[in-house]
Amino acid sequence: MTKKKRVYINTIGCQMNVYDSGQLMTILKAHGFQETHEVEQADLIIVNTCAIREKAVQKMASFIGRFAGLKQKKPDARMVVAGCVAQQQGKKIIERFPYVDVVVGTHAFRRLPALLEDRELRAAPVVDISMTKDIEKTDSRTLLRHHQTNISEFVTIMRGCDNFCTYCVVPYVRGPEISRSPEDILSEISVLVESGMKEVTLLGQNVNSYGMKEGLCTFPELLKKVNEIDGLERIRFVTSHPKDLSPELIESFGRLEKLCRHIHLPVQSGSDRILKRMNRRYTAGAYLDKIRRLRQTAPDMALTTDIIVGFPGETEQDFYQTLELIRQVEYESLFAFEYSDRPDAPARRFKDKVEPPEKNRRLRELFALQESITRNKQEAMVGRTVEVLVEGESKKQQKQKYPINEASTELTGRTGGNRIVNFSFGLDCNLDINNLKGQTIQVRIEKAFSNSLWGIPVGMEFTSRQNKGGYVHVA
Ligand code: SF4
Repeated sequence: MTKKKRVYINTIGCQMNVYDSGQLMTILKAHGFQETHEVEQADLIIVNTCAIREKAVQKMASFIGRFAGLKQKKPDARMVVAGCVAQQQGKKIIERFPYVDVVVGTHAFRRLPALLEDRELRAAPVVDISMTKDIEKTDSRTLLRHHQTNISEFVTIMRGCDNFCTYCVVPYVRGPEISRSPEDILSEISVLVESGMKEVTLLGQNVNSYGMKEGLCTFPELLKKVNEIDGLERIRFVTSHPKDLSPELIESFGRLEKLCRHIHLPVQSGSDRILKRMNRRYTAGAYLDKIRRLRQTAPDMALTTDIIVGFPGETEQDFYQTLELIRQVEYESLFAFEYSDRPDAPARRFKDKVEPPEKNRRLRELFALQESITRNKQEAMVGRTVEVLVEGESKKQQKQKYPINEASTELTGRTGGNRIVNFSFGLDCNLDINNLKGQTIQVRIEKAFSNSLWGIPVGMEFTSRQNKGGYVHVA
């Protein structure tokens, strides 16, 4: 029997790349590969790249650079560069890194097995960055046979973007918006639910405009259909463009019991002048109005956002308007970045750039404000009992590889508002940890940290192994 080739995928960037890497792995497994988590052992190394910020591109370059040494030791190993930078740079990647074997763009990655064969036949690097108007259909049988399903999974509902924010490369590297059919999306989710998924995150660059171009159902209608899938417990989605957040979508939070009360709504700036230069097509006032309506519909709604500081032309006053908006909304958490020029993005031509030390100062000031808001919000959770969907061992537990102490191990899960909750689980209980994964349990919060909460499960009755027939009531 021939030994299976091993494949290692390094994913850089957003959830969309995480999903694409999962699809790629499923396709490669169907072609006889097996997954490895050790890059040195791999026969095929793939880096799925991100072009959104310069740092992500540098990360890719340093990863590919490391492969040069490995290729000398293992000449038959193959290296693939996939994703947004592959789409953007194409054969320039081969010119810069001549030992790369295949460059495959955002629309072509499903053809990778054929491209790898082509690489062997031609004994030369292969580049495929062609774009298509079609969108992939789920191959449910392949998914069932070759995909290791997790409690929580991403499912892409659309690709590309038509919005052309002036700082962003996505419309250029991922192409125009294309939505998958509702039937195809529902079939993929049903297959994943059958094999153990409990929580789905619907992905798209702008899910709020799902189906509009193709005349499919609207996004709120799609959510309603997903909500009806038996066995699915939670629904999330990212990302929403504030301009397309419709009253129907806001009402969905009040109507659909599986839809988590959390929305990631990127605001990018609190200044109308800067929002206009970014081509975001909403004002800070309109954004705040939507936040108010979201909170009217679901008072416990958790809110997160993205912010860019130091966009060209951003004055101190513009920046303080952003801080003021953060104070008003009181986000659970946020992602903030210093603006950086991106090839293809129109804002790189704006002359009035903010100096790097100033961008850095603003970023630190913004983080300090958000940290104090997050701390207050986390501390307010202490003493409350929350619903947690159990995902498995906590990060700390996974690193230790042995129980945190003799009596218990530490598990982790998330609340509907997307807060991480870790909790101890008694090892003397005859409740199998694997049975607990995917269950929704009540946890009383005892401690708050900046990125997580710690608590004790409530109302769970465990039969002690040492005291068969008795119950240890954890409350
Ligand atoms: S909405 Fe704007 S920021 Fe988001 S992907 Fe599209 S162009 Fe980029």
